[in-house]
Amino acid sequence: MAREYRVGIIGGGPAGCFCAYHLQQDCDVTIFEMSSPLKTLLVTGGGRCNLAHAEYDFRELTKFYPRGEKFLYSVFSKFATADTLEFFRSIGVETYTQEDNRIFPTSNSAADVREKFLASLKATIKQEKALRVNQLDDTLEVVTDEASYRFDAIVVAVGGHASYNIAKYLGHNIIAPKPALVGLKTDKLFPSGVVLKNVKTQIGKKVLQDDLLFTHNGISGPLAFKISSLNARENFPYSVTLDITGEIDLQKMFNANPHKTLKNLIGELVPKSFAAAICPSEEIKCSQVNSKTRDLVTKNLRELELKILSHSGAGEVVTCGGVDLKEINSKTMESKLVPNLYFCGEVLDIDGFCGGFNLQNCWSTAYIAAQAILDWHHNNV
Ligand SMILES: Cc1cc2nc3c(=O)[nH]c(=O)nc-3n(C[C@H](O)[C@H](O)[C@H](O)COP(=O)(O)OP(=O)(O)OC[C@H]3O[C@@H](n4cnc5c(N)ncnc54)[C@H](O)[C@@H]3O)c2cc1C
Repeated sequence: MAREYRVGIIGGGPAGCFCAYHLQQDCDVTIFEMSSPLKTLLVTGGGRCNLAHAEYDFRELTKFYPRGEKFLYSVFSKFATADTLEFFRSIGVETYTQEDNRIFPTSNSAADVREKFLASLKATIKQEKALRVNQLDDTLEVVTDEASYRFDAIVVAVGGHASYNIAKYLGHNIIAPKPALVGLKTDKLFPSGVVLKNVKTQIGKKVLQDDLLFTHNGISGPLAFKISSLNARENFPYSVTLDITGEIDLQKMFNANPHKTLKNLIGELVPKSFAAAICPSEEIKCSQVNSKTRDLVTKNLRELELKILSHSGAGEVVTCGGVDLKEINSKTMESKLVPNLYFCGEVLDIDGFCGGFNLQNCWSTAYIAAQAILDWHHNNV
């Protein structure tokens, strides 16, 4: 009888564990996790775990990834949203879709997802830190802080927050890591806690529209996260222009409401505290507004320019950057430099918007790596 194919997985996060699950039936799998397996899942979705997004067309799904869009085309054609839900159902995690298309477990508990996922795993888990991978004649060797182990194939799933030493040591190019999906500090400040609905902005050719939250030191919320994501490689400071109301004719509104105060009228379009911040401080009636003030208020509503000074540190924080996709085969997730070495999850130079896309990247790339390892193994026994 042929001996079992040995696979070492470095990193027991969502990507590493998903890969292990799909290999465990046919291979001898060892996960090296320096902390605790699936610990990172606990904080996802504010503790509720936004595990996927209800976009079922794989071509459309790729469009939510500022980095990795083209690479994911082939990956998602084989494993995408419906497959993710099927997997979770199979381990006892039912899901529901929110109004904004984010998919959560019915339990609304990341801890519950983690528990069920861990219960389904049969792999050996070693709480050791992998230091490097050596290429030997016919195997790969993982050297940890405690010992060294030989494998037929190795999957690197160390995430985006770890060091990239293992990949670098094997000759891989690392695209410099930068934070994405973070809040941003701005030059102008507005009342903290105010939410503006459906604000539009344009970054390069991409027109974005989403809700914006003002914080004590800048902006946060879905639109700010998208801005931080698309501008992840931009140097600070940079400017963004916000269209808060869309097309608007203030003069026409003044003529129709001559006795209303300017602040009250603008307060019908946007939250009152924000209206007060963008109108002159003195109380004036609409009939008394001169053209200079009208144009200034219109500019604040249609073309509010903010200078982005730095990250604020708040937010979901995924890493833009990582292992260069040019060196990875998108059909197998195998390294083009080192045979039998695979990568999956956030360690790759792939990141998506907020909404379940980053976990979807983990599930899909991990599945592809597992299938490629199984195919190779079956063809060579
Ligand atoms: C606050 C927050 C909320 C989020 N919410 C969501 C969400 O709701 N939906 C969504 O889609 N995405 C979300 N994300 C992003 C998502 O969590 C990540 O994209 C995902 O966890 C990446 O998974 P991974 O397995 O690639 O890496 P990780 O989750 O980082 O796991 C890597 C694992 O490898 C281990 N490791 C690293 N180096 C070594 C080593 N040398 N030896 C041994 N072990 C090692 C680490 O301890 C870790 O457990 C969120 C992120 C954050 C920070």
